[in-house]
This record gives sequence, C-alpha cells and structure tokens, in this order.
Amino acid sequence: MSSSKPNQIQNAHQILKDVFGFDNFRSTQQHIIENVLDGNNTLAIMPTGGGKSLCYQIPAIVFDGLTVVISPLISLMQDQVRQLVELDIPAVVLNSSLSTEEYQENLVMLKNGDIKLLFLAPETALQSSTLGLLKTIDISCIAIDEAHCISEWGHEFRPEYRQLDQLVSCFPNAVTIALTATATPRVREDIKRQLNISQNSEFIASFDRPNLYLEVAPKESAYLQTKAFIDKHAKESGIIYCQSRSGVDELTTKLKQDGYSVLPYHAGLNNHKRALNQEKFVRDDIDIIVATIAFGMGINKPDVRYVVHYDLPKNIESYYQQIGRAGRDGQDADCLLLFGYGDTGKIRFFIDQMNNEQEKRLATMHLNQMLALAETEECRRVPLLQYFGEPEVSETCAKCDNCLSDDKQKSDLTVPAQKFLSCVHRTGQRFGAAHIVDVLRGSNAEKVLQNQHNLLSTYNIGKELNKKQWMTLSRQLIQKKLLRQDEQFGGLKLTQLATDVLKGKAPFFAMLQQATPEKTRKASQSDVIGNTELVSILKTERKLIADKANVPPYAIFADRSLQEMAYYLPHSEQSLLKIHGVGSAKLAKYGDIFLSLVIDFCKQHDLQEIENSQSASLQSKKEVTKSVSIGSKTKEVVERFESGESIAELSSSLKVKDNTIFNHLYKYAQAGNSLNKPERITQEVELDEAQIEECLVAFDAHGTERLKPVYEALSEKCSYEQLHLMRVLYICKRNA
Ligand code: ADP
Ligand code: ZN
Repeated sequence: MSSSKPNQIQNAHQILKDVFGFDNFRSTQQHIIENVLDGNNTLAIMPTGGGKSLCYQIPAIVFDGLTVVISPLISLMQDQVRQLVELDIPAVVLNSSLSTEEYQENLVMLKNGDIKLLFLAPETALQSSTLGLLKTIDISCIAIDEAHCISEWGHEFRPEYRQLDQLVSCFPNAVTIALTATATPRVREDIKRQLNISQNSEFIASFDRPNLYLEVAPKESAYLQTKAFIDKHAKESGIIYCQSRSGVDELTTKLKQDGYSVLPYHAGLNNHKRALNQEKFVRDDIDIIVATIAFGMGINKPDVRYVVHYDLPKNIESYYQQIGRAGRDGQDADCLLLFGYGDTGKIRFFIDQMNNEQEKRLATMHLNQMLALAETEECRRVPLLQYFGEPEVSETCAKCDNCLSDDKQKSDLTVPAQKFLSCVHRTGQRFGAAHIVDVLRGSNAEKVLQNQHNLLSTYNIGKELNKKQWMTLSRQLIQKKLLRQDEQFGGLKLTQLATDVLKGKAPFFAMLQQATPEKTRKASQSDVIGNTELVSILKTERKLIADKANVPPYAIFADRSLQEMAYYLPHSEQSLLKIHGVGSAKLAKYGDIFLSLVIDFCKQHDLQEIENSQSASLQSKKEVTKSVSIGSKTKEVVERFESGESIAELSSSLKVKDNTIFNHLYKYAQAGNSLNKPERITQEVELDEAQIEECLVAFDAHGTERLKPVYEALSEKCSYEQLHLMRVLYICKRNA
C-alpha cells in the first residue's frame, strides 16, 4: 500500500467535515486513524460511545479498495449500513437474511468496485465461497469489531473469531484494525498476537465518559423518586434497569397507568415481543424502556438521555456498561442510582447461595466495590475509574452529585471508629465486618460465644449505632484505607492510618446517612441549547422523515444537530453546513425542508440568525447559555478567597479538601461570574507571567471540560492544583 501521509490525514479531516459534518476528531480517534492510514495493523480500545465506528469508516472512505467489517450481531450491522447509506456512503451486508435478488445485487456492486464497506458475520467471512469472492476484489482494510470475542480469556469468546487470522492472512496487503470496548490486559495481548499488531499500535482511550452525570440517591420511595426524575426528562429517551423480571413488569404497569410512554424488556418475553419493544424504543415511538440486564446488547441508539438503576447493580462492571448506554452521542445524559440497603441484602443472599468459595469471595469483593461507589463522598468517578485501572483522577469532575453538592453533612465519628478498630484488633484481625458488629453490639451469636468474644473489653460497647450504621462505618473505614480486607478470607486488618486514629492522633469524619445533594444542577443541559419550541417542531419533522424511510430518527439527524439549528437559526445552506452533523449528503437530502422550517419559525417570532463561528465547540456554546445557580457556601468561599485567605487556610478552616475549595471556585466561574481580584489567583499559583500565558493558551486549545489534556499539553509543567486555579482564572476572564 502506498502511503502519502500528510495528504491522507488532510483528506480524513475533510471527510470528517464534509461527510459526517463534525468539526474535530476526538483525540484518540485521530491517532488511530493516522496509524491505520499509515498501513499499520491497529488495536483500538474505547468505551461505548467513544466513537469507534469512525476509526474504520473514515479510512474506508480514504482507501481505494474495499473495507471488510466483521461484526458479530446482525442488528448492529444493519444499523451501521442504514446510517452509512443515509450519508451516501456505499455499504452493504451479505447474510442469509437477504432475498436472492438483494444478495445478487450486492454481489454485482461489490465486483464492480462500487462498495466502500462490506459487513460480514465471522462465519460468513470464513466460508470458502465468501473467501473466493473476496479474493477477486481489491481489499484495503479489514476491521474487526468487538475484537475481544477473539480471546478465550474474554467474557464473550466466539470460536469463529479465533479463525479470523486465516481471513487476515489471505489478504497480506490489507491493513487490519481491531476494535473493542472491553479488554483486560490479557485479552489485549491475545488480540495483538493473533492479529499481528505491534505494541505501539495499541491505542487506549480513557474510560471516563465526561458527559454522563452520575448521581446516587438513597432509595426511599423508589417509584416517586423515579417519576420525579423522568418528569425532568419529558419526551426524552431513557432506560430504567430493574433487577428482576417481575420488578420490570410491576414498574411498567405503574408507569403506564400514570400515563408514561413505556414498554418492558426482559428474557421472559418472547423473541418477537422483545424485538418489537426494542424497535419501538429505537424509533422513538415510545420514550422509556423498563428492562432487566437482558436489554442493551445490539442497540446503538445514540440519544438515550438517561439511565435509572431502580435496583443496585451487582458490580461496577455492569453499572458501567448500563450507564454507558446513555449519551453515546456525547451530549449530556443523566444517570441515577437508587441505593437501598434492602438491595444489598438481596445480592448478599444470592452470593451466599453460591457453592464455590472462590466465586463467592469474588462476588463479595465486586459488591463491595459497587458499595464503595454508592457510598463515597468523593467524586463518583474516583472508584469508577480506579476499577478500570486508570490513574487517580485528581480533578473534580463537576459532573457528579458529590462534586456538585455543597459538602454533605459529615460528622465526627472518631469515637465509634476507635471502637470498631479496637475491636478488630482485639479479635485478632481475622474476622469480617458483620462479626465485629455483632461483638460491638453485644450479640449472643454462636460465633461470638464460641470465640469467647463476649469476654473482650469491646464486647457490647456499641449500642449507640444500629447494625446498618456500623456496617456503613466499616465500609468507610475500608474506603479511607484505615482497614484492608483480605481478598481470600475476607478478614479485616488494620493499617498505619488506623493506628493514628486509635491513638487519638487523627480524627475520623464520615457520614452515616447519605445526604441528598443540593440541587444545583438542571436535570439535563441538553435542552438549554436552542429554542425548545423549534426543537420540538424539528423533531416532529425528523420523525416523519424517519418513518417514511424506515430508519430510526437518529439516522436522519442527531439531537445535537436539531438543537444547534434551533440555536443558530441558519437561514442559508452555507450556515446549515456549519451545524454539527450536517455534511453534503444530509444537506442535499434534508437541507431545504429544515431550512424552511427554521425560516418560517423565525418570521413568526421575529428572530434573526445567530452568527456561528464554526470553530466554537458545543462546549463553549454551552458555557455561554447554561446558568448554574450557586450556593451560599460557594459565595462564602469566593468572598473569603478574594479577601486574601489562601486555599490551604480555607480548606483547613472549613474542614474540607483543597479539591472542594477548587470546586467552589470552579462552580462560581461556570455560573458566568468574574473575579473582582483576579490577582488573587496569580498570587496563589506561583507561576511567572510567561507560564500563565502558556496555561491560558492551553485552555484555549483544549477547553476547560477536563484538566488532563491541558496537563499533558503543558508537558506536566504545572500541577493539577495550579491548573484548577488557572481554569478558574481563564473562565472568569472570559466571563468578564
Ligand atoms: P462506539 O461504537 O464506540 O460505541 P460510535 O462510533 O457509535 O461509538 O459513536 C458514538 C457517537 O459519537 C455517534 O453518534 C457518533 O456520530 C458520535 N461521534 C463519533 N465521533 C465523533 C466526533 N469526532 N465528533 C462528533 N461526534 C462524534
Ligand atoms: Zn465528580
């Protein structure tokens, strides 16, 4: 393959804009695409919604020959083909669901070289007839989607995937790209070895999904809480996950009775009914699907705006996978977990039924990780990303209940903590939390008496807390690393930090009851953009067109495209092309109709087009339009900071972490305020003028959403602490 890199990359950018209507690559996408265009076999690991498809679709358009895409699910292949055809990119699938005529037609087009992408199931690709056909065609690229299926170490191993190396070896001139959202190090090694991918051709995107807002609420009256939540998302698509089929049926019935547009999905329904309900959801015929974990595989709907966990998920893996179904289009989406101790009990009961001790311990550990996330007072992303082995996130995300709420009411629990720790010590650091609590509360359980723990000085000294509260305390002790849980036997052991608390050298602050976070945030910011009335007119038109074409609405235009239209009010084709997701094909097909709707609306309401400087990213547009109300604590922090108190003084006087102080300042800036004394920041950061300038330029280039890209762009010259402050300065300057 001849590679002329600069041209091809330029070409790729042009295609991104002209065909897909997007302004920028996401960072990992660009590296992956460059590597593929350079002719290197590549492994791409990105979370759901990360944008894997573009990584092979764009090279497919750039390359002269055909790109063969291997995908395990017919529904996903068809969805991809539908979307590509909408973009006027010639793509077909060959499988047994096609009629003889359709099949023949596709064959002819393939042989004539009229097709850019061919989607195949692995078993079809390996048939000798298919291989025979492919050998007569110029093949530039082989893309293997869901590549983790290759590995026996993966959770979805498929034997046919294992034979794909045969396919690859038939086409030595084609470049291979393997893509997956889930891969442990072992699986990754396996994929690379089998598909001949070198170490430096592996690209791993962060598993953080910054557009997902994460919230955990104590489960009090689950139904009313759910209703209140979905009412904030009227007419938007959402998924509600329940643990059991009967739970799904009950909730569906109630919601239906209350007038919601909702259908159920679980393995107890027959195939036909399941497919039908899913299709109605995908096509926006209904708003809500209530489902068990059976729902989600094989749907690509990018505009799911919320996911509710009505019951507690068993582990972080499934929680992450399920919330991951929201906001694949990169726009804001809301995730609410209702967290009740009753659910924990149910899961523990199932775990107790397991026969294999090893499995039991593993399941318990996974549950504890999930509980740590549900109970944490820190950023929810910390336990989440820790689980995926990503480096500690030292920035606050501003997209979870904990980062946004003013400090929850923590109390001084030093004395109960000392009692607990001392009881762990006296029982020999061999027992789990439940036993320790029994001893503290003076239980006559057999295990207590047998071990003569009723004779200890810590026996029956803990009546001031109930069992649940003691258990919560124990998890917080683990989470704050005062205790370590033995993975094999589950016994609790003291750490150095525990010694300090035991000796009275350090206090222990924690929360026994989850406080409800202060509602500083609107349910979703997606509706802030654009005139709501116009958005709904445009959505109605989109649905009409989609039904006529027999495709889901998102294949016509993404939500974001409609919102931008209703914000910028484009009056010409030129302006319409600047809208996200509008490329040449969409312009030709739907330009006239959407333009005329916008123009009519503007006439009726006496509105003018708003100038769209194309480089403005959606994020910066949002920051202009969104209004966040700020709490009294935030005001206090800002005032004290401006009147000269340092970050360290503030955090120690308010008994919070530095991060919390940064977060208050950030919230203040985000709400559109500016500082009276910006020099307070420059005093605090201890950077010289040139460095400050460099920081501001970096924020210009990388946005303010996340600090990591800026941190990296500055070659780690500034600390995160400094960047937190510089971000505040940057936004306040812009607000001024
Ligand atoms: P994945 O396959 O990794 O789950 P997709 O390829 O389906 O993700 O992409 C998710 C969504 O993100 C799609 O709606 C897609 O149009 C959008 N998207 C992908 N790349 C970009 C980009 N560079 N700019 C804007 N939107 C993008
Ligand atoms: Zn957070």
